[in-house]
Amino acid sequence: MMPNEVAALLAYVAELDPRTANSNQAEAAEQLRRWCELLRDVPAIAPDGWDAAAVVRRHVAESPFPILAVDVTRPWAAHRRALLARHTDPTPAVDPDDVAGWQAAIRAQRDAVATGQAAPTASREVTSGDPHPAIVARIAAAGSPVPAEAADALRPYRPAKAAREAASEQGRSDDLSVACTWCRAPVGEQCRRRTNRGPNRAGSWHRRATVHPSRREAAQARRDRQESAA
Ligand SMILES: [Zn+2]
Repeated sequence: MMPNEVAALLAYVAELDPRTANSNQAEAAEQLRRWCELLRDVPAIAPDGWDAAAVVRRHVAESPFPILAVDVTRPWAAHRRALLARHTDPTPAVDPDDVAGWQAAIRAQRDAVATGQAAPTASREVTSGDPHPAIVARIAAAGSPVPAEAADALRPYRPAKAAREAASEQGRSDDLSVACTWCRAPVGEQCRRRTNRGPNRAGSWHRRATVHPSRREAAQARRDRQESAA
């Protein structure tokens, strides 16, 4: 904060909390000098909602003690840490072979964030919601998210899916259309077996290439029921 900003902040403090009013000119000058020294690196306004005046207002509203300069510098230190934690050093517009220039540009970006002059540059997040209309149109044109030639190439590595497709082509029941009562694999997921790693260590699940016989029978029974109902 510049001295005029600190002076404005102190005027605001005196307005909110009359106890902090100085009795004479010399005291006021001394207080201004002290606050200027401590708040030199604290911005008045910074990204993500930092506002020194709001910090002052909150302190007066919540604390029984007259405000000190550190009651502003400490919240700023926490806010600054949060800003820097979100900053991810975006690629600077500098020749990458110019190592010194590159490092200086990265440092300048961090300094700008740390002093509240620039908003942190966070990593782009994965967006939620439906795919872009252009992507939907392309998938519709191709008929499937996985093109036919890619599906053919992947078939040897996806034995369970290949078995389901073969069953559907041969008119057999789809084993994965029912949950497994033996290993409790849900509908659509392969049967699994548990590896036991001793009494004190967690085991892990492995997918079985084949289904449990009871599940196959259950799927067959379900199909028979559906056919007799139809
Ligand atoms: Zn099973």
